[in-house]
Amino acid sequence: MDPGKKWTSGNSPSYWAEWEGSQLRDREFLTFNDGDRIIRLVVRRCRLNLLELHPDQVVVHHWGTHRADLRPFFKTHGLARPEIEVVLRDRKKEIVTTQNGDDFLFGDRIDADFPLDLFISKWSSRFNLQPDDWTPAPGTRSGFAWGGVEDSIPWIALKAAWRQAAPLICLNCDQPTILTNFGQPWTGMLNRTAKFIHVCGTCRRSFRDDSIKDVPGWVALNLEAEVWPDCEMVWDRRVKL
Ligand SMILES: [Zn+2]
Repeated sequence: MDPGKKWTSGNSPSYWAEWEGSQLRDREFLTFNDGDRIIRLVVRRCRLNLLELHPDQVVVHHWGTHRADLRPFFKTHGLARPEIEVVLRDRKKEIVTTQNGDDFLFGDRIDADFPLDLFISKWSSRFNLQPDDWTPAPGTRSGFAWGGVEDSIPWIALKAAWRQAAPLICLNCDQPTILTNFGQPWTGMLNRTAKFIHVCGTCRRSFRDDSIKDVPGWVALNLEAEVWPDCEMVWDRRVKL
């Protein structure tokens, strides 16, 4: 019996998440009873991660910094949930750390005080005019000004973008996200940076879209002319567009 073959077969309750190595050259020296030794050897030599799947727990064996991106595997198998305990075993230093399954979702966790329900409520009313539509959406930063709304984004402009722009699809839920920021605010003494943020209302993760370079062009394309910003902010000064 070839021990190396047994450990990489699909008959074991363990699954190999990544295969970067070539051959397990030492397998002829191992016996069936060398399970843990084989795991250390293969994780080190082949730079593989071994995942043990238990009820409500996943144990990940990895060698130092050679840890695979576990997010696709966790998504496919429904493991990116807070009730799943993820035990990370660094077999190089024999250090064990514990995380939760939802730490392996794509995107960033939104701040605890982010008013997601308010954004969802406004998004649901994107085809309707509301009395507060010219007030700033909390937490937004655009680098533009609309009348008295400076640097933030008024709801009416977000609503226009929600009606026009194609929504980003959440990498976790495969559902449309909500655009929660657009623009190019100042990020340094001489720098402006495009800032397009999308949030998923289901998994509460935010995603940054760095693909948009021409922000004024995006504004012209995705906002109706009546809600275009009238100025851009140069620090605290308004410069007419
Ligand atoms: Zn999601």
